[in-house]
Amino acid sequence: MQQKIDVHDYFSPEAFKRIKALADTQETPFVVNDLATISYHYDELVTGFPSAAVYYAVKANPAVEIIDLLKAKGSSFDIASIYELDKVMGRGVEADRISYGNTIKKSKDIRYFYEKGVRMYATDSEADLRNIAKAAPGSKIYVRILTEGSMTADWPLSRKFGCQMDMAMNLLIMARDLGLDAYGISFHVGSQQRDIGAWDAAIAKAKVIFERLKDEDGINLQMINIGGGFPANYITKANEVTTYAEEINRFLEEDFGDEIPKIILEPGRSLVGNAGILVSEVVLISRKSHTSLNRWVFTDVGKFSGLIETLDESIKYPIYVEKEGELEEVVIAGPTCDSADIMYENYKYGLPLNLAIGDRMYWLTTGAYTTSYSAVEFNGFPPLKSYFV
Ligand SMILES: *Cc1c(COP(=O)(O)O)cnc(C)c1O
Repeated sequence: MQQKIDVHDYFSPEAFKRIKALADTQETPFVVNDLATISYHYDELVTGFPSAAVYYAVKANPAVEIIDLLKAKGSSFDIASIYELDKVMGRGVEADRISYGNTIKKSKDIRYFYEKGVRMYATDSEADLRNIAKAAPGSKIYVRILTEGSMTADWPLSRKFGCQMDMAMNLLIMARDLGLDAYGISFHVGSQQRDIGAWDAAIAKAKVIFERLKDEDGINLQMINIGGGFPANYITKANEVTTYAEEINRFLEEDFGDEIPKIILEPGRSLVGNAGILVSEVVLISRKSHTSLNRWVFTDVGKFSGLIETLDESIKYPIYVEKEGELEEVVIAGPTCDSADIMYENYKYGLPLNLAIGDRMYWLTTGAYTTSYSAVEFNGFPPLKSYFV
């Protein structure tokens, strides 16, 4: 059973104080994000990868407060749709700091990006590549390859995107022949990837592609986009981001020696996840029979209002409550009329026996993939609010 969470394992005392002061004035449910924590994690990543370019994956949390902060710190942006593009450019981000990283896109959307000045595109298929050649002539192309590692990533992203190495090479040759700039390789080893070795295997594949295209086709690739996948702090532990950086830099040196290509990082979760606390309130506590040993705790936030990453209990958020005392195993579920709206049933969270209706629950490490996943009006519940300190 998951024992009582110590907030200070996840937040500095100052950050928690700032968040709590704001939280105490608001009606649940909502997320409070601490901008200083995001700033800290950005700096940590840049220190770990001093010569890499950071492209923040906007989907993790598209709040303008975060876009403004990262823009000011010099970040670039990984964008997946025309809506994200308008939002980020609306904050004054220049087109040369934007990459269109979604491999699934309409031809007219590619044209829209091109007209806005964006010149770097991801692809993983011939049809998409031909669309890019027409709608965004001369642009930089990087091809996303499939990677292994879905067993050790808590939120895998690998199967839907990417192609096999042979196809990646063919696409890069075709890109050149279509008048595009065959620029590099990308991959994403899976979000919340706990096995750093996943990057080793992927970088080795990139190396093979670099060599073969140079030797056999005279194409000089310039860039490797090593994706996101860096961890935030949940109940299932992962290494520190600095350890990821040390190891990944070593993999790059082993494969490329002193000719390391330009490196792009696309962090989402690791930049913003640790900065947020989602605050909810207990709506109801019940037992399903007189002798049942498990209480059900229903709270005013659920799978449809920001906690979709509890699907299959993939992401185990640390949940803090103020009450102390004897713990009991509970099932934790959301407020909607959908029986999929159960967050944790197999993994047993221990919450105090004296937990009562109206008490607050603090879901730590909820700065990433919560507000951006929240439904608009399921059962009439409004989207999850967020505040910044
Ligand atoms: C979602 C996504 C990311 C961010 O991944 P994290 O694991 O949250 O860091 C990066 N790149 C692409 C292409 C993505 O789709």
